[in-house]
Amino acid sequence: MDKDSIMNALISRRRFSKLSATVGAGMVSAHTDPITPTAQMKYYYTGGNVKTKAYAAFDESGELRPWEFERRPVGDNDILIEIKYASICHSDIHQEKGDWGKVTYPQVPGHEIVGIVIAVGKNVTKFKIGDRAGVGCMVDSCLECDSCKNGLEQHCDNDQTLFTYGNPDNREPTSITQGGYSSHIVVRDHFAVHIPENIKLQEAAPLLCAGITTYSPLMKYKINKGDKVGVVGIGGLGHLAVKIAIAKGAKVYAFTTTAEKEQDIRNLGVEEVIVVDDLSKLQPYKGKFDYMIATVPEQFDAAQYAATVKPFGYFTVVGMGKNFMLDISNIVMSQSRVNFNASLIGGIAETQELLDFCSQTGVRPQIQMISANQINQAWKDVVAKKARFRYVIDAATI
Ligand SMILES: [Zn+2]
Ligand SMILES: [Zn+2]
Repeated sequence: MDKDSIMNALISRRRFSKLSATVGAGMVSAHTDPITPTAQMKYYYTGGNVKTKAYAAFDESGELRPWEFERRPVGDNDILIEIKYASICHSDIHQEKGDWGKVTYPQVPGHEIVGIVIAVGKNVTKFKIGDRAGVGCMVDSCLECDSCKNGLEQHCDNDQTLFTYGNPDNREPTSITQGGYSSHIVVRDHFAVHIPENIKLQEAAPLLCAGITTYSPLMKYKINKGDKVGVVGIGGLGHLAVKIAIAKGAKVYAFTTTAEKEQDIRNLGVEEVIVVDDLSKLQPYKGKFDYMIATVPEQFDAAQYAATVKPFGYFTVVGMGKNFMLDISNIVMSQSRVNFNASLIGGIAETQELLDFCSQTGVRPQIQMISANQINQAWKDVVAKKARFRYVIDAATI
């Protein structure tokens, strides 16, 4: 059999079988979207470790460089994705700079990943070769505990949630999980989601962390038509929180400390933009909101913002800053009686629900495309609050 007829056989059986021990022959292909069956024939995986090109951090400098490494072979429950786009989350920067603790280098960041399935393990039924697939913040968990069975894989009771990069994983040749600023990723099928056809792949990427992280708490508190919702911090996460809340019929008030963003935020369709150059700007909003979500990726005075929520309303923190501190006494003193909570991403089923929600409502992130050699500058721009609102890396340039 020649290569094409082997691929046809593989596709028709919707499964991957090990044909030989050679590694990744012919995996590199033209990047086309959507993938046609003809183009698909170029993809060919024959077992063994997956050679991967990437941009990686080598130290805490925040500078990334090209790197080549190997991922584990495609297992029976895994899929292999040729990555088309990966977007930049502020968490990538915090993590690689060591803001959250010791880092194992080299490490490839990226947990907003989309691409095309180019191989599937023999037990996989969720995906077939050629499918559009996305991977977010996690790539594995036990799938047997109550949390995992209830769609809360990020809170696995057996502490087996495996995050997309930087987590120890002895199956990986580099001993840790490696993220999406790369050409390929191997992931357990359960942890990938389908990208609806009417969402461009590059626009789907930011939904996989920024989107689900804001969607999950917004849905949990059942935002209703006409509710007044405050969003604090209008970056990658915040601008999606605004769009999702508006799509649910809420009246959205956007709080930013960056005056230069005011018009861009207004264009998202909010009721008001409040530039908080001084905390006294919050005073007129005391007790006004049904719900507030804060996406600020750094220290801020959460108690002052919480006081803008109606008594017994909800205030959710999703941004993760370095050494974020919350002074509970300030919350008590603000007399807000707010239900204060924090939220970590969202489960896999809910991530699929979000993608379907965006497909139906037209919610899309506002993105800026970059090539891989612009990543370092983009990171600086994210830190300087210049992003509008999510940088998306074209993986073909890695
Ligand atoms: Zn993220
Ligand atoms: Zn579990």
